[in-house]
Amino acid sequence: MKVTVFGIGYVGLVQAAILASVGHDVVCVDVDEEKVANLKKGIIPIYEPGLTPIVEQTCKDGLLNFTTDAQAGVEHGEVQFIAVGTPPDEDGSADLKYVLAVAKTIATYMTSPKIVVDKSTVPVGTADKVSVQIADVLASRSAELEFDVVSNPEFLKEGAAVSDCSKPDRIVIGTDNEASKAVMRELYAPFNRNHERMIFMDVRSAELTKYAANCMLATKISFMNEIANLAERLGADIESVRQGIGSDSRIGYQFIYAGCGYGGSCFPKDVQALVKTANDVDYKPSLLEAVESINYSQKQKLFSHLNTHFAQNLAGKRIALWGLSFKPKTDDMREAPARELMEALWQAGATVQAYDPKAMEECQRIYGERDDLILCGTKEQALKSADALVVCTEWPQFKAPDLAMLKSSLTHPVVVDGRNLYEPSMMKEKGFSYYAIGRGDSV
Ligand code: NAD
Repeated sequence: MKVTVFGIGYVGLVQAAILASVGHDVVCVDVDEEKVANLKKGIIPIYEPGLTPIVEQTCKDGLLNFTTDAQAGVEHGEVQFIAVGTPPDEDGSADLKYVLAVAKTIATYMTSPKIVVDKSTVPVGTADKVSVQIADVLASRSAELEFDVVSNPEFLKEGAAVSDCSKPDRIVIGTDNEASKAVMRELYAPFNRNHERMIFMDVRSAELTKYAANCMLATKISFMNEIANLAERLGADIESVRQGIGSDSRIGYQFIYAGCGYGGSCFPKDVQALVKTANDVDYKPSLLEAVESINYSQKQKLFSHLNTHFAQNLAGKRIALWGLSFKPKTDDMREAPARELMEALWQAGATVQAYDPKAMEECQRIYGERDDLILCGTKEQALKSADALVVCTEWPQFKAPDLAMLKSSLTHPVVVDGRNLYEPSMMKEKGFSYYAIGRGDSV
């Protein structure tokens, strides 16, 4: 099947490569000329485990192509995916300017019927807006061409995007149009063989499903962080509590880790956007507001532990940071807790010595050269003469450090663990001042 994907980011590129890997003929269109030029040379702009060989093979097979030529892209695909960003607007709502720009482009160049598939995360009612945009442009061209706008939200996780796209838990399709349903069934048939993964529903329900999923996950995190804050005050250990509740199959073990708050390009903006949607229909989303505000406070905790430990005198201190990405197995630093911490440390006059297995280039790109940021080649180098270590991301390589080396490298034996990777009793025994999240002993 001929498919066009607009937007070659984390979602568009992975989805396009996976569709090409099963034999679809995919053209990717992006407005970022450098990104397209690099991809044509085989340079992949993001780190995503397993992605490189799939892109290389599908390009070699001639099934995955990249272009900035939107007209050629529109001509190519019977199915046109919109996978562009939907960043938060100033008021928290999802900014639809990129989505609507693609709709306009499709309508400007289409010369045959198209199925326009919205993969970007968009508020309820966006498919209607996309339809109006396309219809208006077609009318201005006096072109009578059929089209349908389908909602097909994406549920992939960064760091596991390839396996999530190859073996999706579910494929949600929002449309009432029987012909579109048949096309989407055919498109996804290779991913739907073992058991039925496709869930058909109306467009608005599909749009809301994506927000509901992300808000549920964010709620689990904020819930655990709230219990962790209580545990700290009550002398309980959130890690024991986590195991105690996770063993209940109605609750389960997934997504119940306390930590220094959720980040990334999705949870913060999607919770914010659903709050805004609720406000727009005169509903006060008390739970979602609490989820946001708990997360905000949680992200301040790392700095607050350091500031208290060093008696509000962080000026001139060197702080080692392990982990910059918002979670392991990605180089994505959007809304990462590490950013909040670094910016607060700089404000207080401290210097950051940071190491991350994959996000160093991204950190350099975001912050450029500055005297108070030292990007180190290894996790050991980051510790040299540092006054404290903060763990911001639970990369596997940070889970079992050589504690003797850690202690001898640091000027002060202070560890702030934003991911609860170490045992408080062991840290105490080895002579560290150890601060974690919701672990009775550590505060
Ligand atoms: P991204 O920022 O990584 O990529 C977006 C791409 O769209 C960029 O390359 C940009 O240059 C391109 N673009 C912008 N305007 C364009 C235009 N007019 N024509 C062609 N290309 C254009 O974004 P992302 O992380 O892939 O997210 C895309 C959407 O998917 C968002 O709505 C996001 O909420 C949603 N989503 C993201 C994830 C995730 O984990 N990143 C997961 C599920 C859903």
